[in-house]
Amino acid sequence: MSVLLEADSLVRIYSGRSGLFGKSTPVRAVDGVSLKLSHGETLGIVGESGSGKSTLGRMLLGVDPAQGGTMRFDGRPMPAIGTAAWRALRARMQMVHQDPLAALDRRLTIADQIREPLDIHLIGTDTTRAARVANLMEAVGLRPDQAERFPHELSGGQRQRVVIARALATNPDMLVCDEPVSALDVSIQAQVVNLLRSLRHQTGLSMVFISHDLKVVRNLCDRVAVMYLGRIVEEGPSETLFANPRHPYTQALVSSVPEPGKRLDGRVILQGEPPNPAKRPTGCAFHPRCPMATDLCRDNAPQLHALGQGRTAACHLVADAAVAQVA
Ligand code: SF4
Repeated sequence: MSVLLEADSLVRIYSGRSGLFGKSTPVRAVDGVSLKLSHGETLGIVGESGSGKSTLGRMLLGVDPAQGGTMRFDGRPMPAIGTAAWRALRARMQMVHQDPLAALDRRLTIADQIREPLDIHLIGTDTTRAARVANLMEAVGLRPDQAERFPHELSGGQRQRVVIARALATNPDMLVCDEPVSALDVSIQAQVVNLLRSLRHQTGLSMVFISHDLKVVRNLCDRVAVMYLGRIVEEGPSETLFANPRHPYTQALVSSVPEPGKRLDGRVILQGEPPNPAKRPTGCAFHPRCPMATDLCRDNAPQLHALGQGRTAACHLVADAAVAQVA
């Protein structure tokens, strides 16, 4: 599969303040992240809250500017935000947000909202836009009689279908979905995930799927990147990463997913809360919570190390084991 999006060493720094009169401290929300997304691929990005995954999602769309690093989309450097070239490219990259009610305009009908991107990007005529809206509504499982309704007249699952239809209106190459099902009831979550899966098969869409729900990610994604405090600590094909997580943080996350018939007493329990991003621990940022931390981990930050079969992990122990295997 050819590469659609390529990000290299992305950095995003916010200014954090502890307390009303506290000193401003730089917070590296995204700290040197590199990744690739191929045509037709779904890449899951997982991690606890504060790991930087939503910031990364916005950066991949060019909505949140990178302060370091580079991005290429379909082989070309990403244009500067706000330029005509960037606005044209935005039609090819769309976002699905967590809260459909917040993402929709309560004063506009469903049909008008789905049509909006076509109006903004001047795609088609009045007639073709109306036909496109009708097709999109059918594709996401909305009834024609819902076209003139307003968001508050629909259920949460139906509203998310509207958001997905609107995101697909311009026929994009890439969707960034940020926790698209976490605000929905469990029964509706499966419907929306199945919808995304079938749309991907029908249209060849590439997707970045940001979620804290590892079960959904395992179900939907081809590859997974695990983030901790702004950095990717493990990445690999979904199947092998979930079957054999190598980084201790990934092991704890994967082990916390309940599975029918699986005993709970062998679970790796993640200790403590994620550290304050403004006070990043020295060395490996995970060391205060890692049951396998050594002195080396406290002083030296591990780099991402290739493990073969498309997998990487940033952990001294994993790197040592990989070297021992080769020797
Ligand atoms: Fe744990 Fe050390 Fe690996 Fe970090 S580098 S995950 S502290 S073993």
